[in-house]
Amino acid sequence: MIALNHTHDASARSWLASANAAGGDFPIQNLPHAVFRRAGHSEPFRGGIAIGDQVLDLAALAARPLLEGLALDAARAAALPALNDFFALGGRAWQALRHAVFALLRDDAPAATVEALRQCLVPQAEVEYTVPARIGDYTDFYTSIDHALNISRLMNPDGDVTPNFRWIPTAYHGRVSTIGVSGQRFHRPMGQTLAPGAKAPTFHACARLDYELELGIWIGAGNAAGAPIPLAQAEDHIFGICLLNDWSARDIQFWEMAPLGPFLAKNFATTISPWIVTMEALAPYRLPWTRPAAEPQPLAYLEDPGNREGGAIDIRLEVWLESEQARRGGHGASRLSRTSFRHQYWSVAQMVAHHTVGGCQLNPGDLFGSGTISGPGPGEAGAIIELTRAAQSPVTLSHGERRGFLEDGDAVLLRGWCEKPGHARIGFGESRGTVLPAIG
Ligand code: CA
Repeated sequence: MIALNHTHDASARSWLASANAAGGDFPIQNLPHAVFRRAGHSEPFRGGIAIGDQVLDLAALAARPLLEGLALDAARAAALPALNDFFALGGRAWQALRHAVFALLRDDAPAATVEALRQCLVPQAEVEYTVPARIGDYTDFYTSIDHALNISRLMNPDGDVTPNFRWIPTAYHGRVSTIGVSGQRFHRPMGQTLAPGAKAPTFHACARLDYELELGIWIGAGNAAGAPIPLAQAEDHIFGICLLNDWSARDIQFWEMAPLGPFLAKNFATTISPWIVTMEALAPYRLPWTRPAAEPQPLAYLEDPGNREGGAIDIRLEVWLESEQARRGGHGASRLSRTSFRHQYWSVAQMVAHHTVGGCQLNPGDLFGSGTISGPGPGEAGAIIELTRAAQSPVTLSHGERRGFLEDGDAVLLRGWCEKPGHARIGFGESRGTVLPAIG
C-alpha cells in the first residue's frame, strides 16, 4: 500500500488556475494518465497527464530539459501512444514521474519553468482520446455481493448467491477487441434468446440491453508464468483505475451463459474512461477491507493484514442516462444511481492474487473489470436490470420518459470521484457510450 506523502497535501496549489477550481476532477493531487491527440488532427497519439482543464503533453515535456533520471525515463515511456512500456517500469518509475510533475505544476515553480510548461499544455476541450494501452487480456470479475444478490432474487425472492461467490473472486475472460474509450458508439447486438416457456430460441435484436457500472483495474508490472503474485504484493502490480461500462445483453446472456459463462451478451462493447487514476493518487481514500463475521473468511492465500487494513477504496460512483429525447429537448441527463466501490466483497488485491494463484501470467496493460458495483441501499444498483427489477418497475427520467431497459439513442455516463475531509477531491472524468440501432 502506498504511504501518504507531500503529493497528497490538500493545501498544495498549482500555478494553473483551473487546477484549483472547487469540485474539479483534476487538481494537482490527482495527475491521472491518458493517451490523446488534438481532435480532428492526424498527429500521433501520445501520453498525457490531466491538470485542471488541460492535458500536459508528456512528449512535449520529455523533449524539454525539465526532467532527469528515472522521471525522464518514465516520461519518455508515458509519452508513447500506448502506456505498456510505462506500466512495465513499475512503481518507482510511476512515482518518480508523479513527484517530478507535481513539482513542475506546483505554484512555487520558477517562472521560467511555468513558461516552459505552458508550451506543453493542450486544452482538454480540444483533444480526443484512445484506449491507453495495448490490452493483451481482459478479465471481468463478479465481486459485488449486493449485485449478485439482486440478480439472484430476480429469479427467486429467497435466492442466494452461488456457493462459490463467498470463497472465490469469480470472473470470466472477456473480449479485448471491442473495448473502446469514452465516446464509444455501438450497435445494439443481435443474438439468440429463449422466450419464457418457449421450446426453441429465436434470433433478433437484443430487447433487454443493459449497462454495468464497473471500475477498470490496469495491471502495471506483470509476473512470470508459474510465479503467483502473493496478496501482500498484489498492489505493486496495479498501476491505476478507470471507469468501465460492461454493456450487457440480458436476454442473450440468460440463454447462452450456462454453463460456460457470458459470450455474445458481453462481447459487443465495453466503454472505459480515458483517464487512469494512479494507485498513489488513491492512497488517501483507502479503507479497511472487512468481511462480516457471519460470512466465510477468506482462505489463507486471500488473507493479508495489509488488505484488512486498507484493501477497500472509497470511490464514489454515479450512473447517468441521457436519452435522445432528453438530448433534443435540452433536458440533460438523469441520474439513475449512486454508490461507492467501498462495499465490494473482494478487493482489487484479492482479484490479482486469485487470478495468478494457479500460475497465470499477467502482463503490463492487462485490464480487469471489477464486476458490477452495487451498494446495499436503494438507488445503489449498478445495472438497470436491478433498478427496474427486469423492467417490472421502470425508472422515470427527469423529463418524464420511462425506462425498463436501454433504448436506441440512449447514452450512459459513468462518473467517479474521491473526497474526504482534509484531502483534495480527485475525479475520474467520465465514461460515455451511446446505443445505436441494431444492424440489419
Ligand atoms: Ca460485468
